[in-house]
Amino acid sequence: MPNIHSLGLPRIGHKRELKFSLENYWRGDSTAQELDTTAQQLRQQRLQLQSNLDWHSVGDFSLYDHVLDTSVMLGNIPTRFEHDGSIPALDNYFRMARGRSTQASAPVSAGEMTKWFDTNYHYIVPEFSADTRFELNADKLLQEIAEARLLGAKPKPVILGPLTYLWLGKARDATDKLALLDVVLPVYEQLMLKLAQEDIEWLQIDEPALVLELTADWQAAYAAAYRRLGKLTPKILLTTYFGQLQDNLELACQLPVDGLHIDALNAFSEIERLPALLPDNKILSLGIINGRNIWKTNLTTTLDWLEPIHQQLQDRLWLAPSCSLLHVPMDLESETGLDHEIKSWLAFALQKLAELELISLALSQGRESVALQLQENKRALDARAASDRVHKTAVKSRCSQISPTMMQRNSHYPVRSQLQRKMLHLPRYPTTTIGSFPQTSEIRLLRKKNRQGELTQADYKKAMQTEIQHCIREQEACGLDVLVHGEAERNDMVEYFAEHLAGYAFTQFGWVQSYGSRCVKPPILYGDVSRPEPITLEWAQYAQSISDKPVKGMLTGPVTMLNWSFVRDDQSRRETCQQLALAIRDEVCDLEQVGINIIQIDEAALREGLPLRTSAWQEYLDWAVQCFKLTANGVTDHTQIHTHMCYSEFNDIIQAIADMDADVITIETSRSNMELLDVFDAFAYPNEIGPGVYDIHSPNTPSVDEIVSLMQKAAQRIPAERLWVNPDCGLKTRHWDEVKPALLNMVKAAKQLRAMT
Ligand code: GLN
Ligand code: ZN
Repeated sequence: MPNIHSLGLPRIGHKRELKFSLENYWRGDSTAQELDTTAQQLRQQRLQLQSNLDWHSVGDFSLYDHVLDTSVMLGNIPTRFEHDGSIPALDNYFRMARGRSTQASAPVSAGEMTKWFDTNYHYIVPEFSADTRFELNADKLLQEIAEARLLGAKPKPVILGPLTYLWLGKARDATDKLALLDVVLPVYEQLMLKLAQEDIEWLQIDEPALVLELTADWQAAYAAAYRRLGKLTPKILLTTYFGQLQDNLELACQLPVDGLHIDALNAFSEIERLPALLPDNKILSLGIINGRNIWKTNLTTTLDWLEPIHQQLQDRLWLAPSCSLLHVPMDLESETGLDHEIKSWLAFALQKLAELELISLALSQGRESVALQLQENKRALDARAASDRVHKTAVKSRCSQISPTMMQRNSHYPVRSQLQRKMLHLPRYPTTTIGSFPQTSEIRLLRKKNRQGELTQADYKKAMQTEIQHCIREQEACGLDVLVHGEAERNDMVEYFAEHLAGYAFTQFGWVQSYGSRCVKPPILYGDVSRPEPITLEWAQYAQSISDKPVKGMLTGPVTMLNWSFVRDDQSRRETCQQLALAIRDEVCDLEQVGINIIQIDEAALREGLPLRTSAWQEYLDWAVQCFKLTANGVTDHTQIHTHMCYSEFNDIIQAIADMDADVITIETSRSNMELLDVFDAFAYPNEIGPGVYDIHSPNTPSVDEIVSLMQKAAQRIPAERLWVNPDCGLKTRHWDEVKPALLNMVKAAKQLRAMT
C-alpha cells in the first residue's frame, strides 16, 4: 500500500480560532498562556485529521508564518530586534511579524511581507546582511515533535530548505545570498543531528524554489547542499510544488536524498520521465490531489494514470496532495448553507485527505474495494460536467463572438483626451480618490441588517442614499474635483460583484490564511458568468444626481475578480476571465448610458496572476490586458476610463499597463517616495497618471508640502497636464477624522501646484 501523507495543513482552525486568539493576545485581552492553549489544541486537531495517514506532518503549524519560523529556527533575527532576552521570545516574534507584540508595546519596523510564490499567502521576508549569523534554535520543532509523540503520532517534521530560504530572503546590503549557504548549512546539519537523536525517520524539506528559473550557480548550490545534508539521517523527503521543474528536473531527481515529491498536477507532463530519471532506491511522492483549489478530484481518471506508475514503483510510491493544504478552506461539512448540488462538486482540506485515502486503497486493494465511493465520485463529476447551471449556451456563444473591435476605443488617447477635457472641464492637477470612504460601524450594521432581512429594500436604499449623500457632501467640502459614491454598500471589492453575477457561489467558513491572523474567503466561480441585472447603477446615479461635480463610477475588473476567486478547473483561466470581462462590460456600458462620464475599473490584482516563470509572463499579460480592454472599451471617446492598481512594482510590466490604454491610471507610489516613477525616465507612459501621494495604510496626515514635493518629482517625469492628485488606495479602513485633514491638504497642494505652473 503506498504511504500517504500531507505536506502541510491549514493552521487557522475550523472557525478561525487562531485568528481570534492571536488578536485577543495582541489587544492585551488574553495571556500568552491562553494563546498557547489554543495553539496546542489546534495542533492536536491537525494530528487527529492526519490519523489515517502514514506520516504525520509536524512543524508546519505557525503562530504567524512558517518562513518567519524558519528565520527564528536558524537564529536569523535582524539586529533591530532584541537579542538580549529582555523581551519574551513570543513578543519578539510578533514584533518581527507585525511591528509590535501587544497594543501597549513599543513599535518597531516589522519585517517586509510578500507573496508566497503565486499564492495569496504572504510570508515575512528573511533579511540578510554582512553581519547575518545563524544559530540553531530548534525548540519549537522539538516541542511539536514531543507533543505529537505523546499522542501516538508518527511525526514527519516539515522544514523549509536552505536554498528556498535564501532565495526568498533579501540582502539589505551587497551581501551575496548564495555565499551564505556555507554559513547556514552547519545549522541544518545540527538540526538533523538533533532529529536523528529523536529517532525521526523522515524529514520533509521543502524546496519549492526548484520550480523557478534558476541560474547555474543556484543549481550547483542545490547539488552541493544536498550532497552534505543527504549523507545524514533522518532520511530526507525533498518536496517541490506549484509548478514544473523543467530544466531543474534532472537536478531534482539526482539530488542525493531519499525521496522526492513532485506536484503531479502542475507538472503532469514531467511524470512520465520520472521513473527513468530517479535512481531506483528513491521514494517518489506524487502530489495527486490539488492543494490549490476546492474541486473534487476525479478519482477514476487519477487511478487511470496512477495505476501503471504504482505497478512499476510499488512501495517506492508515496501519495500526497500537490502542496500544503494551507491554501484551501478546512472542512466542506461546515457549509450548511451551500447549495447541495454545488457542494457535491467540492472538496476542502478534510475531504481532500479522504480522497487521498480512497486512492491509496484503490491502488492496494483494487478499485472494487472502493467501488461505491468511485461511483459516487463519478456521479458527482458527471453531473457537474453536464450541468446547465455550469454551462450556459448564451454566455458561450457571446464569448465566441468577441471581436478585436470590441477591445478597441474608437480613437487614440490624444483624440479622446481632447473630447474628455471639453466635457469634464477639470482643472490641471485634478484631485480624486480611489473609491471607498470610511466603512463606519453604522454602515456595517446597515449591511448586516439588510443581509439578515431586517430591513425592507426601500429602507435599506434610503439609508444607503443617506450615507452616499454624506460622502458626497464631505468630498465637496474638501474641494475634490472628481467625486465617488464611497462604496458603502460593498463588503469586499470582489465578493460584492460576485454576489451580483450568475455563476458564483459563496461559503460561510471557507476562510484561507492570507497573512498572520488575516484570512480571506474567496467566492467560488463554478459556472459560466453573466450579469443578470445592473449592479452599481442605482448608487452611482443617485450620487451623480446630487452633485454638480462629476461622479466616477467604480467597478472591479475581470482580472482581479479572477485572481481573487476560486475558479473553475474545467476551462482555461483565460476563458473564465473573458466571461467576467463581458459581464462587467455590460455594467460599464450601462453606467455610460445613465450619464456617468468617468468609470474606474480596478485591477488591484493584475500582478498577482503573473506565472512563476517569467518566460510565461507575456502570454498571461496578453490575455489579461485584452480582458481589461474588453471590459472597458465599449464606451464612446467622451467617457473617461480609469484604472487603479495597488502595488508599486510595475516596472517589469509597464508595457502591458500602457497597453491597457486606460485614460487615467492611479497607482501606489507614496511609500517609495515616487522612486518607482524612475521607470518613466526610460518609458514614455502615454496617458494620464495619478501617482498616489499619501499612504492610506498609515494614520498620519500628509502635509501640503510633502504632497507638493512628491507631485513635483512626478512632474519631472510626466507632463503636468497628464497628472492627477490622489491617495494611493481606497479609504475604507480609515476614520473620517483621518481622511478629512488628509484630503484637505491634498486639495490645497493641488491648488499650490496649479498656481506654480
Ligand atoms: N475602489 C477600491 C477602494 O477604493 C479599490 C480597492 C483596492 O484597490 N484594493 O476600496
Ligand atoms: Zn488599491
